[in-house]
Amino acid sequence: MDDKVIREIRIDPIVPTQSVLISTVRGKRPRQDETPLSRDLREYVETCPFCRGNEHNTPPASFQIPDTGEWNIRIVENLYPILDDDPLIPGLPPGMQQAIEGYGYHEVIIDHSNHGITLHQMSEKHLSLLLDVYRDRMRTLYKTDPRIRYVLVFKNFGKAAGASMPHSHSQIIAMPIVPHNVQDEVQCSQTFYQKTGTCIFCSLIDEALSLETTAYKRDSGKIRQNYKTAKYVIEQGEKFIAIKPFASRYEWEIHILPINHQSNFLAITHDDLADLARVLRRTMLRLKAVIGEVQYNYFFHTVPHVNSNSEFTHSYHWHIEICPRTNIPSGFELGSGLFVNTISPEHAASKLRQALN
Ligand code: AMP
Ligand code: ZN
Ligand code: ZN
Repeated sequence: MDDKVIREIRIDPIVPTQSVLISTVRGKRPRQDETPLSRDLREYVETCPFCRGNEHNTPPASFQIPDTGEWNIRIVENLYPILDDDPLIPGLPPGMQQAIEGYGYHEVIIDHSNHGITLHQMSEKHLSLLLDVYRDRMRTLYKTDPRIRYVLVFKNFGKAAGASMPHSHSQIIAMPIVPHNVQDEVQCSQTFYQKTGTCIFCSLIDEALSLETTAYKRDSGKIRQNYKTAKYVIEQGEKFIAIKPFASRYEWEIHILPINHQSNFLAITHDDLADLARVLRRTMLRLKAVIGEVQYNYFFHTVPHVNSNSEFTHSYHWHIEICPRTNIPSGFELGSGLFVNTISPEHAASKLRQALN
């Protein structure tokens, strides 16, 4: 499939106030060659505080797996936290300017003991453990402090994705507010639910899957072959699906969602984690096959804890957003709030889908 010329503004189906400019001609403009991600393939680096053996260079572990002996996954407080629960002297200015205290928790999850490993090189078992750690740590942070309104799990990988440490790690920030992009999704999907009685994420999954066709045997009528022609489906497991969003902000952006409706990541079961690990690993493998060493962010969007037993249970659908960083937002994006994507999502989806076949 060719990347045909598209120049259109696509409205985000979930948050309609957000839109993306798909402009494939822009992708053909001359660019300076991007420096490929130079990765340190060493398993151990003496100066890296996240490497096994260098534990004295980080705060003590708040949690590790296994809990004694050599760790495979380790969580430490961030040495330079964005938010902290140390009380500060309030210096709030009077008048129109408002602020709330920046309390919270900021932890680093050292994903693996191997310094140079990438996500797709980790075993599914290890990834499943990592996802389990995310879930447990989120639960603990919510329980520890009732002031916490949202716990964000995210990962930066590569300089283009804002990472300052090359050793594979994730981060978890417990904050006193629900971030506005989660809040927007929660509210817009509730509006959709009130109008239609369905979850918009479930509807989008149905739509993405609706192009599957089945060929039947002429004589017996039994299934001969299933053709997966679904345009936006990148990877499908038993319980999870990876989809290329119609209004992708990033060229190679992919979202992973539970196929069956679930609002809260914290409710995920052990079996589900194994399937999610598989879908996540294969999705990263596809990205690597198509664009090479990928620098990316991913983050989890789940129903805010304060709302977990509320009216949003049926309308919100948790998911992971993977955002490979192949271009740097420029003045147009900052000035207009419109993301520019130079590869049509359908073309990107087709390449990603074919990558492992
Ligand atoms: P990133 O900047 O996304 O690579 O995330 C790395 C995080 O690790 C940053 O938020 C740093 O504040 C944090 N960090 C750096 N050095 C240490 C250390 N020795 N112990 C704990 N956290 C650290
Ligand atoms: Zn390291
Ligand atoms: Zn749903």
